[in-house]
Amino acid sequence: MDTRLNEEDLAFQEEVRQFLTESWDDEVRARCSNPATMKEGVEEWQDRLYKKGWMAPHWPVEYGGTDWSVTQKFIYNSERATFGAPEAVPFGVTMVASVIIDYGSDEQKAKFLPRILQSDDWWCQGYSEPGAGSDLASLKTRADLDGNEYVINGSKIWTTYAQYADWIFCLVRTDSSGRKQEGITFLLIDMKTPGITVRPIDTIDGFHHLNEVFFDNVRVPVENRIGEEGKGWTYAKSLLVQERLSIAEVADSKRALTELRELARGEVNGGKPLLEDPLFAKRLADVEIELMAVEFTELRALASIAEGDEPGPESSLLKLQGTEIQQTIQQLRMDVAGYYSGTLQGDLGADQLGHDFADSAQKNFFRGRAASIYGGSNEVQKNITAKYVLGL
Ligand SMILES: Cc1cc2nc3c(=O)[nH]c(=O)nc-3n(C[C@H](O)[C@H](O)[C@H](O)COP(=O)(O)OP(=O)(O)OC[C@H]3O[C@@H](n4cnc5c(N)ncnc54)[C@H](O)[C@@H]3O)c2cc1C
Repeated sequence: MDTRLNEEDLAFQEEVRQFLTESWDDEVRARCSNPATMKEGVEEWQDRLYKKGWMAPHWPVEYGGTDWSVTQKFIYNSERATFGAPEAVPFGVTMVASVIIDYGSDEQKAKFLPRILQSDDWWCQGYSEPGAGSDLASLKTRADLDGNEYVINGSKIWTTYAQYADWIFCLVRTDSSGRKQEGITFLLIDMKTPGITVRPIDTIDGFHHLNEVFFDNVRVPVENRIGEEGKGWTYAKSLLVQERLSIAEVADSKRALTELRELARGEVNGGKPLLEDPLFAKRLADVEIELMAVEFTELRALASIAEGDEPGPESSLLKLQGTEIQQTIQQLRMDVAGYYSGTLQGDLGADQLGHDFADSAQKNFFRGRAASIYGGSNEVQKNITAKYVLGL
């Protein structure tokens, strides 16, 4: 694999840098990082991506994607992460869009894709239920056909951003007679439909990301079903592969590691920069090596996708390794902040104590614990790897 950039790629890299310098400005950055203004900030940022034609690089060009090569996608993502700009919120543009493009009707494509591209709709993912997480196929939320509508009853849990969402894509049970994977149907549901209730779930990082969503006789037109009734499991699995690829966040970890190195250089421990502490330096080197290995795995996966292969179990490997690396870096950042990372800074109502990165180190650490759970827990990714990669 030749990883050198040619002249065309270098010119593209320059264009990306220029766009990010102009568009990822202090104002939108501040709005995105403040929970109170996050939604508007993200919409503004996504609008800038849309106007540049870069909102959905992975979509086919006919629906508004770019025709970037694998290398260009890699360059864009590396630069985006280096500038600290976020990826577009994945539930619409990455997850449900991939299912609509692959399995949706022409009417569904015409109705939903332009609105996703322009961030007119926020989407959330209604897969997990109180009794169906890792064992997702055990889901019980029912959809009973009544004329040309499904009537939905049940509940979903851990639904990220349901409080903002205009639409939810849901797995529902339309048949309980056969294997549990059969009889699952994929529906698109307008969150304004009567009978839907959203309840917040507080998390340890102090933000409101998660919710429960309850369905009480919610009527959904049959035209909002993706593909065939009872075939939702097939569509759901293809979406999970996309989700896992996006969770690895290799480029973002590279940036986090560079920042960590700088912080450790400025932190004095026993009269010397922490970076020169042999124990700390070894931990840093270990995670750097792991990250390099994952980066090459990601490049191999991207190259095979570009050649027309379907991404498969490598998405599980990337999710597993990528999230373990994220968590190790978050732990090291806590260690650099030392005991200041142990205070609940936000709750003190006072100025930041100690290092100015202590508060974010702590919040990222707490939030980061979830990365080995969402998108399918890391234990489950090990099972998939054992079965499909190692043939055990
Ligand atoms: C921050 C966050 C955001 C999320 N966002 C969404 C969302 O937007 N939409 C959505 O639908 N879901 C979402 N989820 C849910 C997530 O997908 C599930 O939490 C996850 O699949 C695990 O399911 P569970 O919580 O029911 O745990 P369980 O399945 O009950 O697992 C409990 C423990 O048992 C282990 N385990 C279970 N089965 C096996 C097995 N076969 N082999 C080995 N170990 C096993 C698991 O690894 C875990 O450690 C989110 C979760 C989190 C934490």
